[in-house]
Amino acid sequence: MANANVRVRFCPSPTGNPHVGLVRTALFNWAYARHSGGTMVFRIEDTDAARDSEESYLQLLDSLRWLGLDWDEGPEAGGPHAPYRQSQRMDIYKDVAEKLQAAGHAYHCYCTPLELEARRDAARAAGKPSGYDGKCRTLSAEQKAAYEAEGRESIVRFKMPDEPITFTDLVRGELTFTPDNVPDYGIVRANGAPLYTLVNPVDDALMEITHVLRGEDLLSSTPRQIALYKALIELGVAQQIPAFGHLPYVMGEGNKKLSKRDPQASLNIYRERGFLPEGLLNYLSLLGWSFSADQDVFSISEMIEKFDVADVNANPARFDLKKAEAINADHIRRLDVKAFTEACEPWLQAPHADWAPDDFDRAAWEAIAPYAQTRLTVLSDITANVDFLFRKEPVEDEASWTKAMKEGSDALLRTAREKLEAADWTSPESLKEAVLAAGEAHGLKLGKAQAPVRVAVTGRTVGLPLFESLQILGKERTLSRIDAALAKLAA
Ligand code: GLU
Ligand code: ZN
Repeated sequence: MANANVRVRFCPSPTGNPHVGLVRTALFNWAYARHSGGTMVFRIEDTDAARDSEESYLQLLDSLRWLGLDWDEGPEAGGPHAPYRQSQRMDIYKDVAEKLQAAGHAYHCYCTPLELEARRDAARAAGKPSGYDGKCRTLSAEQKAAYEAEGRESIVRFKMPDEPITFTDLVRGELTFTPDNVPDYGIVRANGAPLYTLVNPVDDALMEITHVLRGEDLLSSTPRQIALYKALIELGVAQQIPAFGHLPYVMGEGNKKLSKRDPQASLNIYRERGFLPEGLLNYLSLLGWSFSADQDVFSISEMIEKFDVADVNANPARFDLKKAEAINADHIRRLDVKAFTEACEPWLQAPHADWAPDDFDRAAWEAIAPYAQTRLTVLSDITANVDFLFRKEPVEDEASWTKAMKEGSDALLRTAREKLEAADWTSPESLKEAVLAAGEAHGLKLGKAQAPVRVAVTGRTVGLPLFESLQILGKERTLSRIDAALAKLAA
């Protein structure tokens, strides 16, 4: 439904390479913003100097641009809540942390890790909840002074209300968390650095986010954030608690959660293999959502038109590479031939291509492209399919050679060469008849007869339609490659 008030955010931490789970989250937020006519906010959660990197930040920007997921507010775009990098907003968090303490919503905790561990173990042994026990909630001024005199460090903890927290998840329905399950939690480190637990909801509040759509792994932080939000509303920092929707887990091989470190999870792999952004997004949208019962392939604008968080499914989604490839292949077929020709170009150049730039022949490429378009799964497949046109000699692939060159292949090739020499090179049909006739002369069906010709000319046993390929390569080069193969067989 159109609702221009919708404000969603995508707020990754710039650590490591972007992965498919991250892209799915970005996509669902973006689709919801575009569907409702609302605002997409892109925020960088870079408060962990030890793990964040500028390289990863630049990669995030580049990845979103490649995918076509644009943002209305955020890095480079700017906006009314700038800056959108948390590392540039430290004063804001410091100020909020102080206000929370002054109002009694947060307090200093002086417990050492060892003390916390001992009490946790004792609570476990007694069968009691083992989260933080609230010990420092009620420290007197003297106790605090004594701890400080001892030189103890302290973190700031948020004081959770002693009552259950209930909210309606947009995906999972009503959920309740009891206080035992959500103990007081740290919001500022001993060194003064604010934690995710603070900066994420504070920025959602200040940036007036209306819908938080994120992975299920963050579900446990939601009751904490709701409690913090209530405190922020009391302080006048927040206006309203956003709605939350937790997107289902994505399962990988062996029904285990797809991990960031899983090679299949890396966005760059799909990009390098030549997935089309629209093919990849189409597939990723199906991880937790469906377009319709009988249609899996659709355009991004069709997705936007239909997408609603309310339709996201809570069940874990299974990542299926084969399906992703099949959908991508479909999107390749949908391109107009000019767009296809252009999309392939990176794979027709170094480092993918091993021919000299001058040997690339644009006319030959444009002639063969339509035959390739109906066959590729990913764009990177193009290199091996057309290299015979641009390399001085076909690739040397021993496996293909041994498979195609049988006893009698030399005789067949000699006949094929004769017939091809006499054929009409303006028509692939005539080239086919030449090879057919050569086969007949040696008691071979077309399939068997064309295999040695294909390997002699392209180096490979499989490839694009052979007779069109020969025609585009040209008579002279075709015949000289057959000669070279004959010489090799003779040797
Ligand atoms: N920076 C957090 C992450 O990447 C954002 C989580 C959220 O969406 O609240 O995990
Ligand atoms: Zn404590």
